[in-house]
Amino acid sequence: MHLKSFGAACTVTGSMHLLSFGSGQQLLIDCGLFQGGDEMEARNRETFDFDVRGLEAVILTHAHLDHVGRLPLLVRGGFQGPIHCTAPTAALAETVLLDSARLQEDGYRQDLRHARRQGREAEVLPPLYEEEDVHRTLALLRADLEFGQTTTIAGLKVTPERAGHILGSAYLRLDTPDGRLIMSGDLGNRESGLQLDFTPPPEADVVVIETTYANRSHRPWPETLTEFRDALRDAVRANGKILIPSFAIERAQTLLYTLKSLMDAGEVPRIPVFLDSPMATRATNEYFEFGDELIPPVRDALRAGEDPFRPSTLHVVPTSAESQRLNRYDGPAIIMAGNGMMTGGRIQHHLKHHLWKPSTSLIIVSYQSPSSLGGRIVQGADHVRIMGEDIAVQAHVHTIGGFSAHADQDDLLAFLSTTGRPHVWLVHGESEVMDAFLPVLEQRGLKGDLVPNRQSVDLRGPGFAGGRPPGLVLEGSTDAARATGGE
Ligand SMILES: [Zn+2]
Repeated sequence: MHLKSFGAACTVTGSMHLLSFGSGQQLLIDCGLFQGGDEMEARNRETFDFDVRGLEAVILTHAHLDHVGRLPLLVRGGFQGPIHCTAPTAALAETVLLDSARLQEDGYRQDLRHARRQGREAEVLPPLYEEEDVHRTLALLRADLEFGQTTTIAGLKVTPERAGHILGSAYLRLDTPDGRLIMSGDLGNRESGLQLDFTPPPEADVVVIETTYANRSHRPWPETLTEFRDALRDAVRANGKILIPSFAIERAQTLLYTLKSLMDAGEVPRIPVFLDSPMATRATNEYFEFGDELIPPVRDALRAGEDPFRPSTLHVVPTSAESQRLNRYDGPAIIMAGNGMMTGGRIQHHLKHHLWKPSTSLIIVSYQSPSSLGGRIVQGADHVRIMGEDIAVQAHVHTIGGFSAHADQDDLLAFLSTTGRPHVWLVHGESEVMDAFLPVLEQRGLKGDLVPNRQSVDLRGPGFAGGRPPGLVLEGSTDAARATGGE
């Protein structure tokens, strides 16, 4: 049983793991895009150094872009096999991949326009893939995985179980001739979010586990809720705009649900809420479709025909023109827009129009890379550059932890607690975070090792002395990569 990782090895982005077993069969677990800065994103253009056509199948753990975003490249490379996943993951993957192709195409056209003016047209790289590639990819999706049900894929028994991270997210139990392997995918934060907690896994010989937040504990949910409520109350008193940059899947729905709950309980005033993210709007539709997967209060509301994601003052903003018109809207209002780190998307023009006003509040609910626009604001910059203009930062900035969709150290240890004495291989984390987690595992009598990048490891082998592969080369700046850990 060998594993070779082409992403999420000593970093948190670009998840893609090639599993070889039996008489040379190969399965790919996830096929995600690298996100977070030019250096990291350049890795999306690396070639696949395995026989793409010989691959038996792909299995997806969930639909975040850093787990599905390179699928169209795999299909371009000649892959024509099945891509297995749960039904909600298939539905969300369609939204995510089409959005990704549009962003690639728009980015390319914009780069080309700028380059033409400088006579450097030839230097512009083509989009990674286009909408047509996505349609060819979607045709291979098989929404045939069900939680708790064993399916045979390429001769292996595969059982997906709830991971509690985002809608449809699964971890995989794989029963191979060499023993039982658990691939965690991304695991959920048991304190917050809309998903049921992960299902305790059974005993296993090997566990490959994500480690995004393996060195810290999240703030308890009741404290997060109080913090969020107080920030909203302060903002309403200031009588200005409340800007909330948000990721489109899970975070946006969690925020809408939380806002509705707080408003219905009279905890915050009913001011207008603008959801200015077409992708979040589309993703929310899937939460209706698969409502039975969600925590009981949300599930029950959906069954009763209510809309738990719709505060009574919600307005959905479909077009860019309508988004622009919001700049002239008078009075206090909450504006939720992407993207989460403010590096692009509609949030940028809202920031340009409101960040310089002392009456504005910026509520940050996700991690901000220090090098991103959001990161510079969090660090206290008094001016920032937005859409070519220098803007003074005079808004109140509230940073609220606790909305993370990822497991913290306690969650990860709880997950491992039912697996017996497996050999634990660490992925989807920064090297320093994983280094901090190794002694914690050791205290519990577990052997831990870091999965190296693009280097095949025998999962049943001895691993590395000290848990670190020899000659492990750390990535360059990992700040940008870490920023996508919220996904
Ligand atoms: Zn994820």
